[in-house]
Amino acid sequence: MNAAVELTRELVMIDSVGGNEAAVAAPLARRLEAAGFEVRAHEYAPGRAGLVARWGSGVPVTLTGHLDTVPLGAREWTHDPHAAEVDGDRLYGRGTSDMKAGVAALVVAAEEHSRGEGRRVALELLLTVGEETGCEGALDMAAKGLAGPSRGLLVAEPTANRALLGHKGALWLKAVTRGVTAHGSMPHLGDNAVYKLARAITAAERFDHGVPAHPRLGAPTTNVGTVRGGINVNSVPDLAEATLDLRTVAGQDHAALRDRLRDTLGGETILETLSDLPAVWTEEDDPFVQALLAAGAHDPGERPAASYFTDASVLVAACGGAPAVICGPGEPEQAHVTDEYCRIPRIEEAVDIYRAALGRL
Ligand SMILES: [Zn+2]
Repeated sequence: MNAAVELTRELVMIDSVGGNEAAVAAPLARRLEAAGFEVRAHEYAPGRAGLVARWGSGVPVTLTGHLDTVPLGAREWTHDPHAAEVDGDRLYGRGTSDMKAGVAALVVAAEEHSRGEGRRVALELLLTVGEETGCEGALDMAAKGLAGPSRGLLVAEPTANRALLGHKGALWLKAVTRGVTAHGSMPHLGDNAVYKLARAITAAERFDHGVPAHPRLGAPTTNVGTVRGGINVNSVPDLAEATLDLRTVAGQDHAALRDRLRDTLGGETILETLSDLPAVWTEEDDPFVQALLAAGAHDPGERPAASYFTDASVLVAACGGAPAVICGPGEPEQAHVTDEYCRIPRIEEAVDIYRAALGRL
């Protein structure tokens, strides 16, 4: 069996649902050290360590993937989620597509690159923790200065080996209104926080981001996801909260967007930021994109953006504004599903694409 397929199976057999990334990182650190990489652990929390591995000199190409996986869900699996069962050309298990196949392909391509001949571009691997819970690991890596200037950031999230050029950003906010409680029979003695929030929500529905649609990412969007307020039926509520999910396009400044939204919602609404992940976009004519396409990455065609966000939201800035491409062997529609699988030939293909692309840079 191909080395990257073997490694994918080994990683899938390590349960990293919601954490435990240190156990996944350990065999990868050993392999990369054996291949001549300088490896450092990124200690995030007990049992939760990612890794930073560096090979060669000069500004590197940065390869990134996350080591955590999402929960299994309530539905029964027909394939053991941590047995890495092979059935035909499918490899089953939690994290096969999202994204242990991608991590394994990156690591094997990096090993092969380091053992190649002639002058070769330097490499940096950033294997992260806690991506699925809002890019926590990448944020911590960036805050600790573990990522540096890069010639290009390759994110091996599942794209079926298509070279995707970016994705929308996400700004998640909590809107809070406050008032004064009173008995429900005497509302004039209170100040109703729910009425204030209702006005804010109505305004949010009509919120205009103030930017045109991006030619490839589409238009920015706004959604009110949750609403909570009040104590009981016979009291005037003094607190109400809603959560908002704004999806942004390249070029939108989230701080300015938040100010614009605050003006729209009115002065009675307090906004708290829950998550702030900017959009990612690289033009198709960028040499980094072209290197991947020339190396065999599939053309993204009419849908060049990922439907999910990635650590690139954080790492592009941490890597000095590097161009970013999302290209990995997993099946995008298999991410987070019951009986998740990836296709074995795509893992082998991803290694070939990565190795060939690195050879061109
Ligand atoms: Zn993922």
